[in-house]
Amino acid sequence: MGSPSPLLPRHDGSAMVVGGPTTVLDLGGLRIVSDPTFDAPGPHGYLTKTEGPAVTGERLADVGLVLVSHDNHADNFDDSGRAFALAAPLLLTTTGGAKRLGGPAKGLAAWDTHGLGRPDGGLLTVTAVPAVHGPEDGERDPEGEVNCQVVGFVLAGEGLPTVYVSGDNASIGTVAEIARRIPGIDAAVLHAGAARVPGKFRERPVSLDGVRAAAAAAVLGTPVNIPAHYTGWAHFTEGRDAIEHAFDDAGLTSLLAIADHGTWLSLKP
Ligand SMILES: [Zn+2]
Repeated sequence: MGSPSPLLPRHDGSAMVVGGPTTVLDLGGLRIVSDPTFDAPGPHGYLTKTEGPAVTGERLADVGLVLVSHDNHADNFDDSGRAFALAAPLLLTTTGGAKRLGGPAKGLAAWDTHGLGRPDGGLLTVTAVPAVHGPEDGERDPEGEVNCQVVGFVLAGEGLPTVYVSGDNASIGTVAEIARRIPGIDAAVLHAGAARVPGKFRERPVSLDGVRAAAAAAVLGTPVNIPAHYTGWAHFTEGRDAIEHAFDDAGLTSLLAIADHGTWLSLKP
């Protein structure tokens, strides 16, 4: 038996993309994990995972909150990610997802909020925000959602950077609405990668591409923009180079915070 891997030390005020969409956010003494995916590479139904996580779920000790933008797709919520999420004390997700998942899951509709006590004594307020998981004119499901119900999240609290986690969203109009309703967001975790699924929406992207990620950064006016959801799955059609190129084309490289997965990035401007 090998010795257990060391726990990942806390790094307050920072975020780390672990792989795929999965991001760790250490804020106010809370460890938060969004869209947990920790499976090894391999097929997941119609999707194929091509890369494992930079950090295993076992190393992320004492997680206080898991955010799931949608539980419907394996690239945002794979098998070990599901087990990890259901073991957390609190899981915030869509209203439909909460019904499916049970346990620690609480459903939030867009603009609903949930307050959480922080180990440092303050309060963390999580606001669910809308997300459109495909082109604006994409086919709607019976609930009126493009692709499926998805929520993003804005995390805020006194003394903390305000952080937007987009979830799978392809709509700049939606980003603009969030920027209008919640001014002063400091950092954004943007699901990029231009995910395209065969047979769906004529293979148009269901997440931001690099150009739209740069546009989202401009619309939000966020000094720190951390792309996620651009490696690790075969249906992601843009990687780090395309994102860097798009921010450079827009003259916004100074707003881009990108590094190898498993690297801490400061959320503070
Ligand atoms: Zn999805």
